[in-house]
Amino acid sequence: MSILIQGAQIITMAPGQGARPITGDILIEGDRITAVGDCETQAADNVIDGRGKLVMPGLVNGHMHSPEALYKGRYDNMPLEVWMLYAYPILGAQTLSPRLAYLRTALCAMESLKSGTTCVTDDVYESPNQTSDQLDAVFQAYEDVGLRATVSGHVVDRPFLDTIPFARDLVPPELCAEADAQGAADSAEWLAHCRDALEKHHGRAGRLNFMVAPSAPQRCTPDLMQAAMELAEAHDTPFHTHILETKVQAVTGQEFYGETLIAYMKRLGLLRPRTTIAHSIWVTDADIGMMGEAGVSIVHNVISNQKLGAGVAPIKRIMRAGINVALGSDGISTSDTTRMFSVMHAAGLIHNVQTPDNDLWLSAEDVLHCATLGGARSACLGSESGSLEPGKKADMIVLDLDAIPFTPLNDPANHLVYCETGSSITHAIVNGEIMAEAGTCLRVTEAELLAELREELPAFFAAHERTEALNRQFEPSFRKIHKRCNARDMGLRRLGHEPAWGRT
Ligand SMILES: [Zn+2]
Repeated sequence: MSILIQGAQIITMAPGQGARPITGDILIEGDRITAVGDCETQAADNVIDGRGKLVMPGLVNGHMHSPEALYKGRYDNMPLEVWMLYAYPILGAQTLSPRLAYLRTALCAMESLKSGTTCVTDDVYESPNQTSDQLDAVFQAYEDVGLRATVSGHVVDRPFLDTIPFARDLVPPELCAEADAQGAADSAEWLAHCRDALEKHHGRAGRLNFMVAPSAPQRCTPDLMQAAMELAEAHDTPFHTHILETKVQAVTGQEFYGETLIAYMKRLGLLRPRTTIAHSIWVTDADIGMMGEAGVSIVHNVISNQKLGAGVAPIKRIMRAGINVALGSDGISTSDTTRMFSVMHAAGLIHNVQTPDNDLWLSAEDVLHCATLGGARSACLGSESGSLEPGKKADMIVLDLDAIPFTPLNDPANHLVYCETGSSITHAIVNGEIMAEAGTCLRVTEAELLAELREELPAFFAAHERTEALNRQFEPSFRKIHKRCNARDMGLRRLGHEPAWGRT
């Protein structure tokens, strides 16, 4: 099967070319791009008239949690530590049926595809622990809808109250006992689960991969994290984790280890080129130096970070240190949508109010780089996807330049970041196959999947409301922890542990 897109404006994002458009053709043969430029004499099974169209690499969502999709639009105005009580409950978590896990993932995948995302890193944190049936269902949904996806087994193997500073001081003893009775994931079982998943799913359908995702350094034992890194190295897959999202986590490093969480990761040998750090907000200059030296990736989750009041990552300083930056929606409860055009828009704007120093603002081209090549590199797919170059997998979107967001057309890169919402997309191509066209997913029937999901939801939410009530008991203590860490952080700043962005 071959596809020829003729006479289009093309933003390749290829090194040296970046976001400057060229006029030309793209030839796709099988799952790969075989030519970019002048292919007029070529024949193809499917010819798309590219006149009046813009073609660019499909967007890469570098950090997403599909399990939160059922909580879209449900919570507001809570800091991370309080919100987690409801989205990832300590008590009474329901084990989701594989079918509901499938429908929930399909919901994310369809929205992603229709809004221009062709590749996603889905860090799947199932409460209480991921089962292999649930993971199979998640992979099946991505296979069916047609995305390129890197899917994790997310794990926490320390008792929950030992992952947050002051929890044992501030949570009442009877609630501590209830929380402790839940236990934590068994690291040997989780590693066996990962080995199975790698065997079963890694490389599936030419576009699906499994990755390891120890939740965060304070939430996992060093042994588990190091074993996870060994697995990642052996299978050339990402080691995906969360670091320094909130001020509570900035205090955590000092309280638990007497050093920053980045210094702790370095000491454990876990800062490597395949390490992806979600957030990286409360990093010091020394942290940024260590991350740059190691060549890690970070994911900037700019909408989620605003919703949870977490802070703003010092992205330009991070980029200047040679750290690869991806953009992510983060979970669909803290972002409320998978739409990467919204994430790009926010990333393009937020640094302008973070600092008056406009050398530290992002350009539209910076944003597009993060949302394409940066994301692909963080998923260990930098040589396979993220730009339109011969030899790479054919992952791209086609946009209608006659639509309102591009009229009048000034600078195409600026239009993509600041004007477009995803509404002008005419085609989404993944792995050489047209997966969505004119707002419709071609491989699944959206209306049927949504109708089936709606049928399942009343029972799910009835149970979830009982879970919320159980976990609400912890909220006063967690609000106190949040306040105490914020006060403690001011103290840390006076001692010179000021996060880089505090000075901008
Ligand atoms: Zn996350």
